[in-house]
Amino acid sequence: MPAKSMDELVSLCKRRGFIFQSGELYGGLKGMYDFGPLGVELKNNLKQAWWRSMVYERDDIEGLDSSIIGSQKMFTYSGHTKTFSDPLVDCKDCKTRMRADHMKDQSVCENCGSTNVTPPRDFNLMFKTHIGPVESDENLGYLRPETAQHIFANFKNVLDSTSPKIPFGIAQTGKAFRNEIVARNFIFRVREFEQMELEWFCKPGTEDEWHQFWLDSRLNWWEQQGVPKDKIHVLDVPADDLAHYSKRTYDLEYEFPHGTDELEGIASRTDYDLGNHSKGQKELNIQAKVYENNESNTKMSVRDDETGENYIPFVIEPSAGVERGVIAVLNEAYTVETLENGSERTVLKFKPHLAPIKVAVVPLKKNNEKIVETCKQIKTDLMKLGLGRILFENTGNIGKAYRRHDEVGTPLCVTVDFDTIEQEPAMVTIRNRDTMEQERIAVSELTDYVRKFFL
Ligand code: ATP
Repeated sequence: MPAKSMDELVSLCKRRGFIFQSGELYGGLKGMYDFGPLGVELKNNLKQAWWRSMVYERDDIEGLDSSIIGSQKMFTYSGHTKTFSDPLVDCKDCKTRMRADHMKDQSVCENCGSTNVTPPRDFNLMFKTHIGPVESDENLGYLRPETAQHIFANFKNVLDSTSPKIPFGIAQTGKAFRNEIVARNFIFRVREFEQMELEWFCKPGTEDEWHQFWLDSRLNWWEQQGVPKDKIHVLDVPADDLAHYSKRTYDLEYEFPHGTDELEGIASRTDYDLGNHSKGQKELNIQAKVYENNESNTKMSVRDDETGENYIPFVIEPSAGVERGVIAVLNEAYTVETLENGSERTVLKFKPHLAPIKVAVVPLKKNNEKIVETCKQIKTDLMKLGLGRILFENTGNIGKAYRRHDEVGTPLCVTVDFDTIEQEPAMVTIRNRDTMEQERIAVSELTDYVRKFFL
């Protein structure tokens, strides 16, 4: 059962330490958020799940972690300095700034209803900086507005160092920055965010097949994260709305609390990106309309084993936002249940691999030396499984601990009581978040139980 509104999620996120407004103490930075103690775990777990499915489970995708700042040349040849912009409209009366393509009527201010508004003008979304101590135009750099561009720039390095056969992919997760005209809807549209991007390089002529393959595989992946397929609408982006280099794009649109909106885009990008960055463009029979490049020192081509010809691979790009993924996962996990005694409990029913805390170990009595020692030993043993955060919580209030751990989505709580330390064999109580069932199990079997639970 998803949240009733974004506010419900925002409030839980703040109360329980998932997400905070950045710079709140000075009034808050618009479009920037900080991930708190539980948020950082959730976000890392989501990124890890993506990395596992892309890089570890496949042998035809390699990982990359590139620099965040890119040179002016890179973003000029990629097309970003000219075209990475959104149409901006200013209201001359109330000074509100609006994104023209999000307005119902571009001649009327959304805030005050005035018609005294400017015509739309292009506003470049990239954050600029200077590389080195001199603030001159030659030293301009940009905070990357997507992780993709450095993947293209490293195409030849990865190709030469790992010798993959086409088709193959390069995957990257990391920060991206966009100076959005209007940042809104919590972490849905922010100015600093993270992406999980794959660039899949394939032979021209096979791109439609691969586009379908990645569409299916991404929908399956979201389902494994607890975001069901029937909550994701696949928009086959109409030709008029496509970027000029895109042959076809599928937008995965999820039913967010604020409305149905883009979670991930899967674009078929032809040879545009590698073609733009390539040296010797004229010899390469590039199909996309690219910028003439006389500055690159690298040919972005591969040799066709059958024909002996050099060609530039086509690209399929599944590109997902981590923050949007976090909202979708939180929203799907969010559950309010009425219990038999009429009280309500709020539970985050995360898939176990995404839960910020995997197991909480709770003593029946806090500060009891023997109980605390046993708890710590259990924590140490469970940590060896490498599942993520195992929390020893020395509060001594079991009821409160269960409620708190339901609300932050901890799948299992282990309680150590007096029987555990006094009786042989030592037994603990293990409580399941979703069923609320409690089982007594031997401490000697606990590690195996937990390992199997998280398999
Ligand atoms: P939108 O149309 O919503 O502005 P986009 O089509 O420009 O998004 P892409 O350039 O395709 O987005 O970026 C890939 C993914 O990165 C998006 O599907 C989204 O999940 C994420 N993303 C893009 N911009 C933002 C942002 N400002 N805040 C959070 N996530 C973003």
